[in-house]
Amino acid sequence: MSAISETRVVGSVGKDLFIGGKWVAAAGGKTFAVTDPSTGDVLCEVADASPSDGAAALDAAAAAQPGWAAVPPRERSEILRRAYDLLIARTDELALLMTLEMGKPLAEAKGEIIYAAEFFRWFAEEAVRIGGDYAVAPNGATRFLITKQPVGPTLLITPWNFPMAMGTRKIGPAIAAGCTMVIKPAAQTPLSMLALTAILAEAGLPDGVVNVLTTTDAGGVMEPLIRDGRARKLSFTGSTAVGRKLLEQCAEKVLRTSMELGGNAPFVVFDDADLDAALDGVMQAKMRNIGEACTAANRIYVQRGVVEEFSRKLTERMSALPMGRGTEDGVVVGPLIDEAAVDKVGSLVKDAVDRGAKVLTGGSAVDGPGHFFPATVLVDVPMDAKLTSEEIFGPVAPILAFDTEDEAVEAANNTEFGLVSYLYTRDLKRGLRVSERLEAGMIGLNQGIVSNPAAPFGGVKQSGLGREGGKVGIEEFLEIKYVAVGL
Ligand code: NAP
Repeated sequence: MSAISETRVVGSVGKDLFIGGKWVAAAGGKTFAVTDPSTGDVLCEVADASPSDGAAALDAAAAAQPGWAAVPPRERSEILRRAYDLLIARTDELALLMTLEMGKPLAEAKGEIIYAAEFFRWFAEEAVRIGGDYAVAPNGATRFLITKQPVGPTLLITPWNFPMAMGTRKIGPAIAAGCTMVIKPAAQTPLSMLALTAILAEAGLPDGVVNVLTTTDAGGVMEPLIRDGRARKLSFTGSTAVGRKLLEQCAEKVLRTSMELGGNAPFVVFDDADLDAALDGVMQAKMRNIGEACTAANRIYVQRGVVEEFSRKLTERMSALPMGRGTEDGVVVGPLIDEAAVDKVGSLVKDAVDRGAKVLTGGSAVDGPGHFFPATVLVDVPMDAKLTSEEIFGPVAPILAFDTEDEAVEAANNTEFGLVSYLYTRDLKRGLRVSERLEAGMIGLNQGIVSNPAAPFGGVKQSGLGREGGKVGIEEFLEIKYVAVGL
């Protein structure tokens, strides 16, 4: 159990909308409940924005844009650095808040706060390194002066699975670049974003730069802002289905977009791999965030010669994982986000079993309260099981056997997604050869975690557009302006 009081942590967070530097109630005083997925209990009520609140938030962001763009990069950098320090200083309270609203074990929530804070430290460093260019045109008469300017007001939409880090991964570069923003966190996990908002204000962010809308009417509130024309960019993290819809809306006013969408990661283990290292890697890639991660290993392809040993050892590890409320010591398998998630995971497992898969551990939902599904290992999973093409988003490890490298690559690439692929081999040539052939924005080569604020995160195919983090992360919030200089 945590030493910090749950009631105090929840009580300390602002529950209103944050518009133009002020906490304001939603129009008509509407609110909605935030619940603890491990008990189903209501934690608190937060403001439920309607389209008129959305309009006020965009007004504030648009009004603040020129002044914010003129703030020196060093000052923007220092605000981010102060926010980083505050996040780190308050890791324990923020982690508890996240565990309460989202369910992930406290140790993982702490890890996420630190990961989230690192985006602020990284972009504090990038804010003062926005470059340009000056060049002589081939004709010798003209000069090219190339500068970068903030895109303008941006709309940021984030998911529930990483309620803090998916926010800072966008807010960090937006602040560094000089963009104002309207943020809509997921309705199931608004508290982490509200706590972050207070930290940004405390760090000295000017009024109107960050505006936060919590709402149960995501489409109704955000679509008019996308179609308004004053926001110049949408950065979205969430499902491919919603991302597609938002891209259509963005087309009307030709908004710039960054889309961090769904995944269906293959995890390929060759028979020359260090099996213990591959097991460590798959436990990270599968069980991080209780399997509710876009980077989660969704399909585990193991070469036939080692499939039995690998399956046995993975089952030993998975069946030993303690399940329970994320606040309890040692828990690894927290609750899933809601009952629909439990039903979806259960139906994907049932479909695989109906098609011939065998359950080695876990396999069915646990009675409430709370939304629990145990760590599960499936073997003999046929290639046509639904969970090979859909995101499982839960603690289920399906193992599929393969014989040849070509077969593994073909199966791994047989998906509309292309976020991340993992492979384990001791053969460096094979590792690099297969890395080149895998259709993914990121590859974990003998590594089960690829997320790093200093690296470009993002996918190909229907996993998205653009990259977050790394040197390129800030570019997503900058426009290039070229001045042709006649001498
Ligand atoms: P989601 O249903 O697509 O929701 C994501 C966000 O979009 C939420 O804030 C949601 O609000 C909002 N939203 C939903 N419909 C909308 C609409 N019509 N207009 C505007 N906003 C809308 O996804 P999720 O279930 O929260 O998150 C899980 C998905 O995110 C998975 O597919 C996962 O792979 C993906 N993901 C990708 C990355 C990445 O970096 N590639 C990272 C994390 C997660 P409500 O909460 O009100 O529904």
